[in-house]
Amino acid sequence: MPVNIPLYTSISAQLAQQNITLIAVSKTKPNEDIMALYELGHRDFGENYVQELVAKQQALPADIRWHFIGHLQSNKVKMIAPFVHLIHGVDSNKLLLEINKQGAKLNRNIGCLLQVYIAKEDSKFGLDESEILEIATIQSTLHSVSIRGMMGMASFTNDTEQVRREFGNMFTISKTFPFATAPIISMGMSNDYPIAIEEGSNMVRIGSLLFGSRQ
Ligand SMILES: *Cc1c(COP(=O)(O)O)cnc(C)c1O
Repeated sequence: MPVNIPLYTSISAQLAQQNITLIAVSKTKPNEDIMALYELGHRDFGENYVQELVAKQQALPADIRWHFIGHLQSNKVKMIAPFVHLIHGVDSNKLLLEINKQGAKLNRNIGCLLQVYIAKEDSKFGLDESEILEIATIQSTLHSVSIRGMMGMASFTNDTEQVRREFGNMFTISKTFPFATAPIISMGMSNDYPIAIEEGSNMVRIGSLLFGSRQ
């Protein structure tokens, strides 16, 4: 399926007006699809798999901002640490410390979002409130990461009120963390991003709407 350029154009214009960053989620999609949006000026792309991200980063223009949005294993941090723009899925203290370590080796400050556990139905990855508190107490000792905000995924359900509650809950949790600057709130995907925006999202991660469904 080709990239849906008219839909991209209308969604990106609408989001820009609201100061919401659009991450085009290109996982499993070919480089040509990424270039189709790149040529329209798009620079923020999201990937879930380390190997795939590294291959794409090497093949594609250097000014792309790569967002790692998947579950990241500590032993793979070093593969993306030299270039990744923002790691959305920081779901453990251990992972955060490893990102800090790799950032220090490269003399690079790596932007991170704390992944918050908000979905009731699916057991997805994410920090609970006590782990978030713990990170708040150690963040000033980590000199090679910047905790720039939070990321969350709502339950995969048709119950829009439940989705709304989960996003609202994440926004409330974001207010409890001592961010250095106004936080990035990364929530909302193809099927739920309008609700996420109503609940305070300022960064949405959209894949299948733009690139077509995945196998
Ligand atoms: C795949 C994925 C997306 C995009 O999902 P779509 O439903 O295709 O928009 C967003 N966020 C994360 C974390 C993902 O894994």
